[in-house]
Amino acid sequence: MTLATKGIHHITAFATDPQGIVDFYAGVLGLRMVKKTINFDAPEVYHLYFGDEHGSPGTILTFFPHPGSRKGRVGGGQVGMTTLAVPPGSMAFWEERLTRFGVETSKAVRFGEELLQFADREGMLLEIVEREQGPENSWSFGGVPSDKAVKGFGGALLYSTNSAATRRALTDTLGLKAAGESDGFARFIGEGELGNIVDVPLEDVEYGSGGAGTVHHIAWRAKDFAEHEQWRAAAAAGGFQPTPVIDRQYFNAVYFRESGGILFEIATDPPGFAVDEAEDQLGAKLMLPDWYEPHREQIEAGLLPITVRSLGEE
Ligand code: ZN
Repeated sequence: MTLATKGIHHITAFATDPQGIVDFYAGVLGLRMVKKTINFDAPEVYHLYFGDEHGSPGTILTFFPHPGSRKGRVGGGQVGMTTLAVPPGSMAFWEERLTRFGVETSKAVRFGEELLQFADREGMLLEIVEREQGPENSWSFGGVPSDKAVKGFGGALLYSTNSAATRRALTDTLGLKAAGESDGFARFIGEGELGNIVDVPLEDVEYGSGGAGTVHHIAWRAKDFAEHEQWRAAAAAGGFQPTPVIDRQYFNAVYFRESGGILFEIATDPPGFAVDEAEDQLGAKLMLPDWYEPHREQIEAGLLPITVRSLGEE
């Protein structure tokens, strides 16, 4: 039995400013806020999920915005750059839009693909790439028409403190296919349509430090709960120390730190974000798992109010 992940399920980052995160990811990037909940391990902090109209695996960027928290430094042991896929022919739209919202951009090329690179307001590094693959996102918000909308993840650039070991984990444990090297990067490909192209610098990257503006972990897709159990065993067999299976309400999770310092999670595609609210209502209300529901009043009182709003455009 060989397990192979389709690619990225979600990427989770630290931040400081809940409304700033909503304004950037919904207001500027036009993603849908598909879930407003709390950090299940720290209920005084929001957990905000952004993605396509359904909150599909492979499109989900999540944030723990904790006001006043320490700023991190992007570096080794982290996802260095999160790659967002947009439809072919929409790069110019995004360059113009980001510039109009005061976001500084620069161009880079990796594996022959042009990348538009920028940082969010917290310093998290992002890049946009045009990709044919993957369905269009029918969500249209804040002046982003659906034929230009971010489809989901193109992939990620992993900054490893032990590049050789991380590359081995991607093939031997996650089942991604090595797809060659170019200009100091190795590329790995999964069978999904989104979030399936992962690059790793061949040189080790010096440790960064966790905190606002950095990625906390990257989650890889397991297709169901039965496969998820196999993934846990595969991680242990690969020499990693996986956590027990944890119920994250919208997916089950197992975490382990790979040898290049990056925290990996394996997350199940089911049950998904429509498990506790209707799909047309996703993100509208603060959702709490059953075990926190008795404390709703106190939890809501401790959170800053946030609004998904269009930033001055149709
Ligand atoms: Zn996660």
